[in-house]
Amino acid sequence: MPPLPGPRRTGNRFLDRLPAAARAALAAALEPVDLRAGDELLTAGGPLPHVYFPAGGLVSVLAETADGGEAEAAAVGREGLVGVAALLGATVGPVRAAVQVAGPALRADAAAVLRVGRRVPAADRRFRRYAAYTLRAVAQTAVCAAAHPLRARVCRWLAAARAKTGRDEVPITQEALAVLLAAHRPTVTQVARTLQEAGLIAYRRGTIRVTDPAGLEAAACGCQRVIDAWYARMLNSE
Ligand SMILES: [Zn+2]
Repeated sequence: MPPLPGPRRTGNRFLDRLPAAARAALAAALEPVDLRAGDELLTAGGPLPHVYFPAGGLVSVLAETADGGEAEAAAVGREGLVGVAALLGATVGPVRAAVQVAGPALRADAAAVLRVGRRVPAADRRFRRYAAYTLRAVAQTAVCAAAHPLRARVCRWLAAARAKTGRDEVPITQEALAVLLAAHRPTVTQVARTLQEAGLIAYRRGTIRVTDPAGLEAAACGCQRVIDAWYARMLNSE
Protein backbone atom coordinates (compact mmCIF):
# COMPACT_ATOMS: atom_id res chain seq x y z
CA MET A 1 0.00 0.00 0.00
CA PRO A 2 1.53 3.36 -0.98
CA PRO A 3 2.16 5.88 1.81
CA LEU A 4 -0.58 8.41 2.40
CA PRO A 5 -0.04 11.73 0.63
CA GLY A 6 0.72 14.78 2.70
CA PRO A 7 3.66 16.61 4.25
CA ARG A 8 6.45 14.34 5.42
CA ARG A 9 7.06 14.56 9.14
CA THR A 10 10.62 14.29 10.42
CA GLY A 11 9.73 14.22 14.11
CA ASN A 12 11.72 17.40 14.67
CA ARG A 13 9.35 20.28 15.30
CA PHE A 14 11.71 23.00 14.06
CA LEU A 15 12.08 21.23 10.69
CA ASP A 16 8.43 20.26 10.44
CA ARG A 17 7.31 23.83 11.08
CA LEU A 18 9.69 25.50 8.63
CA PRO A 19 8.04 27.47 5.84
CA ALA A 20 7.43 25.10 2.89
CA ALA A 21 10.14 26.64 0.67
CA ALA A 22 12.73 26.32 3.44
CA ARG A 23 11.70 22.75 4.26
CA ALA A 24 11.92 21.70 0.62
CA ALA A 25 15.34 23.30 0.19
CA LEU A 26 16.73 21.63 3.31
CA ALA A 27 15.27 18.16 2.67
CA ALA A 28 18.06 16.93 0.38
CA ALA A 29 20.74 17.88 2.95
CA LEU A 30 19.24 15.80 5.77
CA GLU A 31 20.42 12.31 6.66
CA PRO A 32 19.07 10.16 9.50
CA VAL A 33 21.49 9.30 12.32
CA ASP A 34 21.15 7.57 15.67
CA LEU A 35 22.39 9.56 18.64
CA ARG A 36 23.84 7.37 21.40
CA ALA A 37 24.09 8.48 25.02
CA GLY A 38 27.50 10.02 25.60
CA ASP A 39 28.14 10.87 21.94
CA GLU A 40 29.91 14.20 21.65
CA LEU A 41 28.35 16.16 18.77
CA LEU A 42 30.38 19.34 19.24
CA THR A 43 33.51 20.25 21.17
CA ALA A 44 34.34 23.70 22.54
CA GLY A 45 37.01 25.14 20.24
CA GLY A 46 36.44 22.35 17.71
CA PRO A 47 35.05 22.46 14.18
CA LEU A 48 31.33 22.77 13.37
CA PRO A 49 30.85 20.29 10.52
CA HIS A 50 27.21 19.39 11.17
CA VAL A 51 23.90 20.69 12.40
CA TYR A 52 21.74 18.13 14.25
CA PHE A 53 17.96 18.04 14.53
CA PRO A 54 16.98 15.59 17.31
CA ALA A 55 13.76 13.63 16.86
CA GLY A 56 13.44 11.75 20.12
CA GLY A 57 16.59 12.06 22.23
CA LEU A 58 18.06 14.87 24.27
CA VAL A 59 21.32 16.78 23.78
CA SER A 60 22.97 18.93 26.46
CA VAL A 61 24.79 22.08 25.43
CA LEU A 62 27.51 22.51 28.03
CA ALA A 63 29.70 25.44 29.03
CA GLU A 64 33.00 24.92 30.85
CA THR A 65 34.29 26.48 34.02
CA ALA A 66 37.95 27.55 34.22
CA ASP A 67 38.78 24.68 36.60
CA GLY A 68 37.54 21.97 34.25
CA GLY A 69 33.95 21.64 35.44
CA GLU A 70 30.92 22.20 33.25
CA ALA A 71 27.19 22.84 33.47
CA GLU A 72 24.28 22.78 31.07
CA ALA A 73 23.54 26.01 29.22
CA ALA A 74 20.68 24.53 27.17
CA ALA A 75 18.95 21.23 26.51
CA VAL A 76 17.86 20.48 22.95
CA GLY A 77 15.31 17.87 21.98
CA ARG A 78 12.78 17.37 19.21
CA GLU A 79 11.91 21.10 19.23
CA GLY A 80 15.31 22.39 18.22
CA LEU A 81 18.72 22.01 16.66
CA VAL A 82 22.31 21.60 17.78
CA GLY A 83 24.99 23.72 16.10
CA VAL A 84 23.34 27.12 16.06
CA ALA A 85 26.75 28.86 15.88
CA ALA A 86 27.24 27.26 12.44
CA LEU A 87 24.03 28.92 11.24
CA LEU A 88 25.59 32.27 12.12
CA GLY A 89 28.69 31.51 10.06
CA ALA A 90 30.97 30.51 12.97
CA THR A 91 33.60 27.91 12.09
CA VAL A 92 34.70 27.14 15.66
CA GLY A 93 32.29 25.69 18.22
CA PRO A 94 31.81 27.89 21.30
CA VAL A 95 30.37 25.09 23.44
CA ARG A 96 30.38 21.32 23.91
CA ALA A 97 27.30 19.32 23.02
CA ALA A 98 26.81 15.77 24.32
CA VAL A 99 23.92 13.33 23.96
CA GLN A 100 22.12 12.77 27.30
CA VAL A 101 19.30 10.59 26.04
CA ALA A 102 19.73 8.37 22.97
CA GLY A 103 17.35 8.76 20.06
CA PRO A 104 16.97 9.37 16.34
CA ALA A 105 18.00 12.63 14.70
CA LEU A 106 18.57 14.20 11.31
CA ARG A 107 21.94 15.62 10.45
CA ALA A 108 23.03 18.08 7.77
CA ASP A 109 26.38 19.48 6.66
CA ALA A 110 26.69 22.94 8.17
CA ALA A 111 27.89 24.26 4.80
CA ALA A 112 24.78 22.88 3.08
CA VAL A 113 22.52 24.52 5.69
CA LEU A 114 24.31 27.84 5.19
CA ARG A 115 23.84 27.54 1.42
CA VAL A 116 20.10 26.98 1.93
CA GLY A 117 20.02 30.09 4.12
CA ARG A 118 21.71 32.16 1.41
CA ARG A 119 19.37 30.86 -1.30
CA VAL A 120 16.04 30.85 0.54
CA PRO A 121 15.14 34.02 2.47
CA ALA A 122 12.41 32.23 4.44
CA ALA A 123 15.00 29.75 5.73
CA ASP A 124 17.50 32.49 6.55
CA ARG A 125 14.89 34.38 8.58
CA ARG A 126 13.91 31.28 10.52
CA PHE A 127 17.55 30.34 11.26
CA ARG A 128 18.26 33.86 12.56
CA ARG A 129 15.16 33.82 14.70
CA TYR A 130 16.09 30.44 16.09
CA ALA A 131 19.50 31.91 17.03
CA ALA A 132 17.75 34.81 18.78
CA TYR A 133 15.48 32.34 20.60
CA THR A 134 18.58 30.40 21.72
CA LEU A 135 20.09 33.56 23.20
CA ARG A 136 16.88 34.12 25.12
CA ALA A 137 16.74 30.53 26.35
CA VAL A 138 20.35 30.58 27.55
CA ALA A 139 19.73 33.92 29.29
CA GLN A 140 16.76 32.39 31.11
CA THR A 141 18.88 29.40 32.15
CA ALA A 142 21.42 31.81 33.68
CA VAL A 143 18.67 33.66 35.58
CA CYS A 144 17.19 30.34 36.69
CA ALA A 145 20.49 29.11 38.13
CA ALA A 146 20.98 32.37 40.03
CA ALA A 147 17.43 32.92 41.25
CA HIS A 148 15.64 29.61 41.77
CA PRO A 149 16.03 26.84 44.35
CA LEU A 150 17.39 23.49 43.27
CA ARG A 151 14.09 21.63 43.80
CA ALA A 152 12.29 23.94 41.34
CA ARG A 153 15.20 23.63 38.86
CA VAL A 154 15.20 19.82 39.05
CA CYS A 155 11.45 19.84 38.39
CA ARG A 156 11.91 22.22 35.49
CA TRP A 157 14.69 20.11 33.98
CA LEU A 158 12.70 16.87 34.24
CA ALA A 159 9.49 18.40 32.90
CA ALA A 160 11.43 19.92 29.98
CA ALA A 161 13.25 16.63 29.30
CA ARG A 162 9.89 14.85 29.17
CA ALA A 163 8.54 17.39 26.67
CA LYS A 164 11.71 17.42 24.57
CA THR A 165 11.93 13.62 24.27
CA GLY A 166 8.23 12.76 24.32
CA ARG A 167 8.89 10.10 26.97
CA ASP A 168 7.89 9.80 30.62
CA GLU A 169 11.03 7.89 31.42
CA VAL A 170 14.25 9.89 31.35
CA PRO A 171 17.39 7.76 31.44
CA ILE A 172 19.68 9.93 33.55
CA THR A 173 21.64 9.32 36.73
CA GLN A 174 21.47 11.69 39.67
CA GLU A 175 25.24 12.27 39.24
CA ALA A 176 24.68 13.46 35.67
CA LEU A 177 21.76 15.66 36.72
CA ALA A 178 23.93 17.23 39.44
CA VAL A 179 26.59 18.08 36.83
CA LEU A 180 24.05 19.62 34.44
CA LEU A 181 22.58 21.80 37.18
CA ALA A 182 25.97 22.58 38.81
CA ALA A 183 24.64 21.17 42.08
CA HIS A 184 26.02 18.86 44.76
CA ARG A 185 25.11 15.25 44.16
CA PRO A 186 23.86 14.65 47.77
CA THR A 187 21.52 17.63 47.46
CA VAL A 188 20.14 16.31 44.16
CA THR A 189 19.59 12.92 45.81
CA GLN A 190 17.74 14.62 48.67
CA VAL A 191 15.55 16.55 46.22
CA ALA A 192 14.84 13.40 44.18
CA ARG A 193 13.74 11.64 47.38
CA THR A 194 11.25 14.40 48.28
CA LEU A 195 9.89 14.39 44.70
CA GLN A 196 9.45 10.62 44.86
CA GLU A 197 7.73 10.88 48.26
CA ALA A 198 5.39 13.50 46.76
CA GLY A 199 4.50 11.06 43.98
CA LEU A 200 5.90 13.27 41.19
CA ILE A 201 8.65 10.90 40.04
CA ALA A 202 9.87 7.37 40.59
CA TYR A 203 13.53 6.55 40.22
CA ARG A 204 15.71 3.53 40.08
CA ARG A 205 19.39 3.43 39.24
CA GLY A 206 19.97 5.41 36.07
CA THR A 207 16.35 6.25 35.26
CA ILE A 208 13.86 8.82 36.46
CA ARG A 209 10.22 8.26 35.55
CA VAL A 210 7.79 11.17 35.62
CA THR A 211 4.67 9.80 37.33
CA ASP A 212 2.73 13.05 37.78
CA PRO A 213 3.51 15.43 34.87
CA ALA A 214 1.06 18.13 36.00
CA GLY A 215 2.35 17.99 39.59
CA LEU A 216 5.95 18.16 38.37
CA GLU A 217 5.23 21.22 36.25
CA ALA A 218 3.44 22.88 39.17
CA ALA A 219 6.51 22.30 41.35
CA ALA A 220 8.88 23.67 38.68
CA CYS A 221 9.90 27.32 38.44
CA GLY A 222 8.31 29.32 35.61
CA CYS A 223 11.47 29.55 33.50
CA GLN A 224 10.49 26.83 31.03
CA ARG A 225 7.18 28.58 30.37
CA VAL A 226 9.11 31.77 29.56
CA ILE A 227 11.41 29.86 27.18
CA ASP A 228 8.49 27.99 25.58
CA ALA A 229 6.65 31.26 24.96
CA TRP A 230 9.69 32.63 23.12
CA TYR A 231 9.93 29.37 21.17
CA ALA A 232 6.29 29.67 20.07
CA ARG A 233 6.89 33.27 19.06
CA MET A 234 9.88 32.21 16.93
CA LEU A 235 7.96 29.34 15.34
CA ASN A 236 4.94 31.47 14.49
CA SER A 237 6.98 34.24 12.88
CA GLU A 238 7.11 34.40 9.12
ZN1 LIG B 1 13.91 28.93 36.95
